[in-house]
Amino acid sequence: MKIENSKFPSPLDLPFPPPLYHVFMRRLTVESHQGEYEVVAESGALSRLKEIFSDGDLSLPGSVVTDTTVGPLWGRGAADLVGAPSLELPDGEAHKRWATVEPLLGRWLDAGLHRGDSALAIGGGVLTDTVGFAAAVYLRGIQWMAVPTTLLAMVDASVGGKTGVNLEQGKNLVGAFWPPRLVVIDVNTLTTLPERELRAGLAEVIKTAWIGDHDLLELFNSGSPITHSALSPEEWQEIVMRCLEVKAKVVSADERETGQRASLNLGHTLGHALEATTGYKRFLHGEAVAWGLLAATRLAEERDLLARSEGDHVRAAIAALGELPPIADLDKDAVRAHMGRDKKRDDEGIAWVLPTDDGVALDQRVTTEEAITIFEELKQR
Ligand code: NAD
Ligand code: MG
Repeated sequence: MKIENSKFPSPLDLPFPPPLYHVFMRRLTVESHQGEYEVVAESGALSRLKEIFSDGDLSLPGSVVTDTTVGPLWGRGAADLVGAPSLELPDGEAHKRWATVEPLLGRWLDAGLHRGDSALAIGGGVLTDTVGFAAAVYLRGIQWMAVPTTLLAMVDASVGGKTGVNLEQGKNLVGAFWPPRLVVIDVNTLTTLPERELRAGLAEVIKTAWIGDHDLLELFNSGSPITHSALSPEEWQEIVMRCLEVKAKVVSADERETGQRASLNLGHTLGHALEATTGYKRFLHGEAVAWGLLAATRLAEERDLLARSEGDHVRAAIAALGELPPIADLDKDAVRAHMGRDKKRDDEGIAWVLPTDDGVALDQRVTTEEAITIFEELKQR
């Protein structure tokens, strides 16, 4: 029998679990200045969006916005299901800018999207940040919903209400606090995500676990790099929801980052400097954060905020991400210059977030020279 032309896909070609197999639904609530919103996680959720919206008393979106990569994989099917036209934005961080927002607003206007309508964003953090921002300014603000499709967007970008775009001068310099009305997580979408993107997302998982759920780090104990297939959909969803519980707690208490929300910047001070030094080309954000976590860990150990044995847990978790893009060739003066531009800098140095034995310490003054010494030490790894 010739099976290649069979109109029935082989079980191996089917997304797993198959679309009609809905299990392990989880929910959590996030507080914001605009009221509460829900995160609904369910394997197969993309095929049940209509029911999920109606369960949440939300009308169907008037527009679905995705990117040119996610559109053919997940976005178009979802748009068909909810019966809304789908728009595809160019894919990539370079397109997270005003020049992408303006035509989107025009398309919404041409399509007759009203103030009472909503938009559904399906994609990674670049897409959800851009669409969320467009929703914040369109007709002075319409509702939006998010279906994050990268691990990073699931555990971080989709929740917390920060939306925005980049300027030539730097990342996320224009934006609004404009939380979505609903976040739908379907870990099936991770099946098509490149492994490198998945590992970069895991760096933010390690960060979040250290802030508020140390037991989650056991996941990284096996000693071998984590791949998509190493974990079941149930386990992926468990990871995402446990991270979101931590993030939801933090942003519910401090949406506008006047205090506690800064804890989410753990690993980001050196991370941002590494990204900027390499023109945002060498590292995925999570990979730079992984180096930043290693630096923060060393600094914390030197200040006796963190026991060596605890620091070893962080290092073991980062090792489970596999090889990171190198830093050995990076010039310390360039890194120093970029750290000098850190938003959290004053005369006494930069306010770092450092890991402690049971969480994090905020507002730890670190001079640029101290940071560079640790950076030079990390280069020898
Ligand atoms: P991304 O959005 O660029 O996605 C990475 C790549 O994966 C893209 O090429 C995308 O098209 C593709 N992709 C997405 N989902 C896919 C899937 N399921 N299968 C195959 N390919 C898929 O990157 P990201 O890491 O998701 O997001 C990074 C952005 O998020 C940054 O701009 C950052 O500033 C932002 N961010 C925002 C917040 C926030 O609080 N708003 C928090 C963290 C990060
Ligand atoms: Mg980050």
